[in-house]
Amino acid sequence: MIECIFSIDYEIYGNGEGSLRELVFEPAERLMATFRKWKARFVPFVEVAELEMLEAKGTDSTINLVKQQLRNFYSEGFELGLHLHPQWYKARHENGRWLLDYSEYNLCTLSRERVVQIVDRALAYLRGILGVDDFTPVSFRAGNWLFQPTQTVANVLVEQGIKVDSSVFKGGLQRQHKLDYRRALRNGYYWKFTNDTNVSDPQGALLELPIHTQMVPFWRMFTTKRVGLQRKASSAAQNGKKRLYRILDFLRFRYPLKFDFCRMTIHELTRLVDRVIKEDQKDTTSFRPIVAIGHTKDLVDFETVESFLSYLEQKGIAVSTFSDVYQKCVTVPGFNVLGSR
Ligand SMILES: [Zn+2]
Repeated sequence: MIECIFSIDYEIYGNGEGSLRELVFEPAERLMATFRKWKARFVPFVEVAELEMLEAKGTDSTINLVKQQLRNFYSEGFELGLHLHPQWYKARHENGRWLLDYSEYNLCTLSRERVVQIVDRALAYLRGILGVDDFTPVSFRAGNWLFQPTQTVANVLVEQGIKVDSSVFKGGLQRQHKLDYRRALRNGYYWKFTNDTNVSDPQGALLELPIHTQMVPFWRMFTTKRVGLQRKASSAAQNGKKRLYRILDFLRFRYPLKFDFCRMTIHELTRLVDRVIKEDQKDTTSFRPIVAIGHTKDLVDFETVESFLSYLEQKGIAVSTFSDVYQKCVTVPGFNVLGSR
């Protein structure tokens, strides 16, 4: 059985550039209308740190619409996930631009005390927006997918009642930030973990539902659509060192292609799911949740999203949420066997 979760990172550009109206509010509003039409739901991963800072400094007047949109999501049954780019909390706004604090870029490298402060602050802000004191998201996704070293942040999330992480993309490698998700290629469609999100631990308190990837020859990464969107996103010139790291990350014959419903063409999306369907036909006993990722800032091609929702319906694949899938994963008999290959 296959189920598909649409997750979307709800945020402006990672260096603080761009407007909430163009990069967040308007695309999310259109996506909401599309999903309503299909009676389906997606999961916005709300990057809370930037919203709080944009509001505090009064730099973007769309913040009130964004807060209302989040309340609408909540009241209409869209599951809200927690996404965090901690470099925002100590950011300064000078001469019309944001100077982010890159010493806090990777939450996982900070002290336990600081992690607790940041997660508490993020949840308090989100609860304030929703007006729900005991709201706790089911799922978490780390900024720039950085969930290594895992242990401290995982503990803090569990203490807060979060149940699912969706930061891993199997086969992922970012040398600059010491991210290495190649070992997760051995795992199944989901697994529990404790000290390292790469490693299945049946006793673990957090469930990993990774962003689905497929290992492909590196040249398949260069479609016109993807390259165009990537160029837009990295318009702020990357420095030489950063570019070199990216090139090194690319120098592998096989590369993890993320299941990205904003960057992929309809042909790529259906081809990827067709492979999962084939696997499912060979072994009909396993549960195969697959997580798609998108970014509001990349969302321009709504026609592809509609065609893909129609394809999933034709194939009988349900569009689900982390909370629904979580219930199934932990109640499937023999969970640990099915969860790892
Ligand atoms: Zn993000």
